[in-house]
Amino acid sequence: ALEKDKPGSVAKIKVVVRKRPLNKKEISKKEDDIIAIEQHTNSLTVYETKLKVDLTEYVEKHEFVFDAVLNEDVSNDEVYRETVEPIIPAIFQRTKATCFAYGQTGNGKTYTMQPLPLRASQDILRLMHHAYRNQGFQLFFSFFEIYGGKLYDLLNDRRKLCMREDGKQQVCIVGLLEYRVSNVDTIRELIEKGNATRSTGTTGANEESSRSHAILQLAIKKSVDTNEPKHFKRLQDGNESKPARVIGKMSFIDLAGSERGADTTDNDKQTRIEGAEINKSLLALKECIRALDSDQVHIPFRGSKLTEVLRDSFIGNSRTVMISCISPSTGSCEHTLNTLRYADRVK
Ligand code: ADP
Ligand code: MG
Repeated sequence: ALEKDKPGSVAKIKVVVRKRPLNKKEISKKEDDIIAIEQHTNSLTVYETKLKVDLTEYVEKHEFVFDAVLNEDVSNDEVYRETVEPIIPAIFQRTKATCFAYGQTGNGKTYTMQPLPLRASQDILRLMHHAYRNQGFQLFFSFFEIYGGKLYDLLNDRRKLCMREDGKQQVCIVGLLEYRVSNVDTIRELIEKGNATRSTGTTGANEESSRSHAILQLAIKKSVDTNEPKHFKRLQDGNESKPARVIGKMSFIDLAGSERGADTTDNDKQTRIEGAEINKSLLALKECIRALDSDQVHIPFRGSKLTEVLRDSFIGNSRTVMISCISPSTGSCEHTLNTLRYADRVK
């Protein structure tokens, strides 16, 4: 985040906190809202109630400042304008951008992330049809998830995928379906299809999806002219097309619930393994984003499947937005502080 203090340079990393309203359950339990937000100073205060040794209560204040803090009355449209919209033109200029939603399950990660790709594709298509008209840009759509350290295609009945590097620092996910898209309706259908595939777990939608990272990618490509024998790529509508080169990319990532990283002591072995993997990936993600900001040469992306998949988004021209979703309630105080400290380390 230091970048933005230098004149003429853009911030590579933007950290935004979004507070959701108290939900019915919290209201019925008469929980208090312990988060005060001042949007004009981008500051946020958590009022934590603690007990002294003599069991009298006192309040400890924790203050944080981020690039933006969004109150419970901020709409998804405003979230889009604050986070993703400013980055869209850059992905036509060889930038790989990533937008993450981080936080405890139930705090609005999916609520926040779901509308963003659709809004982004509207803007991308508008740019392709107007400002970048006749430049041969194409938009590609893919959607997959990482569950227990393995990759599954959300647009192809959860087919298991594997990953390799192509030697040019580009990540290639073998077998991942990529749809060439040219209108918003198709994109809406693909998003719905992927979301439906994601949530058909055995233990209920939120339960399952809270243990996986969902990755939706919009890639801008340009077809390359080549005289070599063509290895054609089959597209959604059955048309064959020339191979295309990636110009820029926008990834939307609905991360596993941050509390899942703590499942490492659960009695169930599978849950423990998944918890350890989630913990590892969220730590590795933090380290990679921090490395980005300090222009460190070595990016520790090998720490987890998530960061390996995002490898090409951590090098070169990259932009990252982290949206941390928090609950306002007393009962979530500890989780909220953990989430804010994570966001603070990334900032
Ligand atoms: P997560 O994906 O982090 O587990 P969800 O996005 O599923 O959380 O949100 C949990 C519930 O809270 C959903 O019913 C959602 O509609 C609601 N919710 C979350 N954030 C907001 C918000 N900012 N405003 C209104 N409702 C919200
Ligand atoms: Mg969710």
